[in-house]
Amino acid sequence: MIPVCEPLLTEEDAALVLDCVRSGWISSAGRYLEEFEAGWAAYCGMRHGIAVSNGSTALEIAAALLNLQPGDEVIMPTFTIISCAQAIVRAGGVPVLVDSDARTWQMDVQQVASKITPRTRAIMVVHIYGHPTDMDPLLELAARHNLIVIEDAAEAHGAEYRGRKCGGLGDISTFSFYANKLITTGEGGMVLTRRDDLAARARALRNLCFQSTRRFLHEELGYNFRLTNMQAALGVSQLRRLESIVARKRAIAAAYTERLSALPGLILPVEEPWARSVYWVYGIVLEEHTGIDAAEMARRLREHGVETRPFFLGMHEQPAFHKLGLFRGERYPVAERLARQGLYLPSGLTLNEEQIDYVCAAVRKSLMLG
Ligand SMILES: *Cc1c(COP(=O)(O)O)cnc(C)c1O
Repeated sequence: MIPVCEPLLTEEDAALVLDCVRSGWISSAGRYLEEFEAGWAAYCGMRHGIAVSNGSTALEIAAALLNLQPGDEVIMPTFTIISCAQAIVRAGGVPVLVDSDARTWQMDVQQVASKITPRTRAIMVVHIYGHPTDMDPLLELAARHNLIVIEDAAEAHGAEYRGRKCGGLGDISTFSFYANKLITTGEGGMVLTRRDDLAARARALRNLCFQSTRRFLHEELGYNFRLTNMQAALGVSQLRRLESIVARKRAIAAAYTERLSALPGLILPVEEPWARSVYWVYGIVLEEHTGIDAAEMARRLREHGVETRPFFLGMHEQPAFHKLGLFRGERYPVAERLARQGLYLPSGLTLNEEQIDYVCAAVRKSLMLG
């Protein structure tokens, strides 16, 4: 079976983790943590990095930083992972959903203005599958309405919007370093911000709101969302070769596009002129006239030994939110089509040219093109 998104680990990765273990600094303090936080923030053009246990907890911290009051709203795409919307709900807010752009699969920024109400506090952008969202219209809207912009850049390490790094464009950004992301710490995440006040509060929230002046005195309820120095050692090593990882992801995508673009019935990922996509995963969308949906395509590819993943299912289609009285009866046609017709092909860093050829031949056969 060709796996869908495997990490590629090196001897240097192993050496730094071993060095960390040997140093004895295996918990949530140490020089690898400092280097990873500072290095990642600098890479993205942000001032502060707060390493956390994963990308979902990074979103929980970002949501907590908004100080939402009951009924406060946060605008976000419906087409994303549940971590985004559940972080807002857990922080006491109401997610307000926006459909996707059919071309880029990102949040349709043209629809955001009409969703702003007096209760809107923030816009949460999610750069999906490695391609940036069109940020300038959103940043302009946010400035005009005094809204915080959160970027979930968990799938967009190294991606650029008009020459600026994703995760360095808004007020707060979040990353995941899960094993299938562009760089990994096994499990891990980060919150970035350029604001000193938000950084201090994020650091406190990450560590149970312990105080430096009087330990075990708490002004606020926090979390234990700490990352270990061992995980950060892996992150430091991975960050050193991020550019080569991005180059490899782009090469995999180019190879797929070259081989698949002649096949009828497939919509392939685009890269807008203002974007540098890092193609976290290579998604394909089956046109409805093929009569094949993503589930059927996944089944056929599996028979050929090719592992795939379906696209996200929109937040408005989630029973977990309907039970809370959220999004019932809402329709987002583009996201619904992506959810039914979209899947992604093996995109991991261990993938070689022969495997790409094999996957493309399997796609061709699965479309019954012989
Ligand atoms: C992976 C991912 C997350 C969650 O990260 P975890 O580390 O798995 O908790 C959040 N947002 C997006 C867009 C992701 O792709």
